[in-house]
Amino acid sequence: MAIKTVRDVELKNKRVFTRVDFNVPQNKRGEIIDDTKIRSALPTIRYLLENDAKVILASHLGRPNGQVQEDLRLTAVAGCLSRLLAAEVVKTEEVVGPRVKEAVSRLKPGQALLLENVRFHPGEKKNDPQLAKAYAELADIFVSDAFGTAHRAHASNVGVAGYLPAAAGFLMEKEINSLRRAVRSPRRPLLAVVGGSKIADKIGVLNSFIKLADVILLGGGMANTFLRAKGYNLGKSLLEEDRLPEAECILQEAEKQQVKLLLPLDVTVSTSLDDEASVKNVPVDSIPADFMALDIGLETREIFAREIKKAGTVLWNGPLGVFEVEAFARGTIAVAQSIAAAGAFSVVAGGDVVAAVEMAGVADKISHLSTGGGAALEFWEGKELPGIAVIDEK
Ligand code: ADP
Ligand code: MG
Repeated sequence: MAIKTVRDVELKNKRVFTRVDFNVPQNKRGEIIDDTKIRSALPTIRYLLENDAKVILASHLGRPNGQVQEDLRLTAVAGCLSRLLAAEVVKTEEVVGPRVKEAVSRLKPGQALLLENVRFHPGEKKNDPQLAKAYAELADIFVSDAFGTAHRAHASNVGVAGYLPAAAGFLMEKEINSLRRAVRSPRRPLLAVVGGSKIADKIGVLNSFIKLADVILLGGGMANTFLRAKGYNLGKSLLEEDRLPEAECILQEAEKQQVKLLLPLDVTVSTSLDDEASVKNVPVDSIPADFMALDIGLETREIFAREIKKAGTVLWNGPLGVFEVEAFARGTIAVAQSIAAAGAFSVVAGGDVVAAVEMAGVADKISHLSTGGGAALEFWEGKELPGIAVIDEK
């Protein structure tokens, strides 16, 4: 079941409504501090332009809640895109309406324009059919390249596809192929690494990994609740007491399914995030009452590295410590380096863990860094993502 991509459609002189993910981080002065998301969409945009399409780009930025918010206009994004393409990309002042229609009518083949932040329109997140139709009236073809929003059914990534032929862009295609390859007939052993702060966000994917994976390595704040379920005292560590039953359930299920689930054996602890002097490595059965577990420990890093070395496929979500603070980033960096050095097919998904992998300087040694954390997790949970479901089949 292959999806239709931009390679499969006639593009010449066609108006192509292209949903991209330009939701880039900006500083207080409105400058883009990381243009990765814009760069990720370039192969598709360039292909459309080179094939003489008239490209209408649509993206959201931030959470304007259906209202115009001046600091969330796509002005800086249009500037950045123009520079990257070395061609001027005009931005409309509105999402839809007569002036947008007029701007589209002036587009020539091989030119692109960018609509204003689609989330300025109250109908966008409601997947309002009127808005979806208004988008569709601008174009002949819909192209979806916004994997990061694929788990949401909004007007510009799902609704519009109800009125136009729909194809995937190259980024969307790569995401789908990489995520699928990781779970459908993966090279074994399949090893999953799960970290991050909260169990609540990870229950779904953990339940899925228990069925799919051969080995699961747990770390980060969420591992604390598992350690607590095993009876250890965690001092002042982040703990979700109300999630203990779920953690126990996952531990039992892992045993039943004969999945090798490894928790940290030792941790890096400190009395606070900024008290360098108190940082030390302790076994999980000796966490002092006034300390917090903030990273996986030295021995754990070695054990995890040994498992990673044997893996055929590695899937990773969530950092294994408070990687934003140097003293507690080492476990996450060590795991990133182990994965980079291993021969496995590797997929890393999650806003924070992708940032950590980049910080570790090994991003180019990971087979696939997903641009959509939430979407990738839902994909691995086995859910049908509405933004993928609307793409036509070949
Ligand atoms: P991702 O974005 O990769 O899915 P999450 O958002 O689930 O990851 O989790 C990232 C956060 O988890 C980071 O801000 C990190 O500081 C935090 N974290 C990791 N380990 C711990 C820990 N031991 N204690 C507290 N917070 C932690
Ligand atoms: Mg996160």
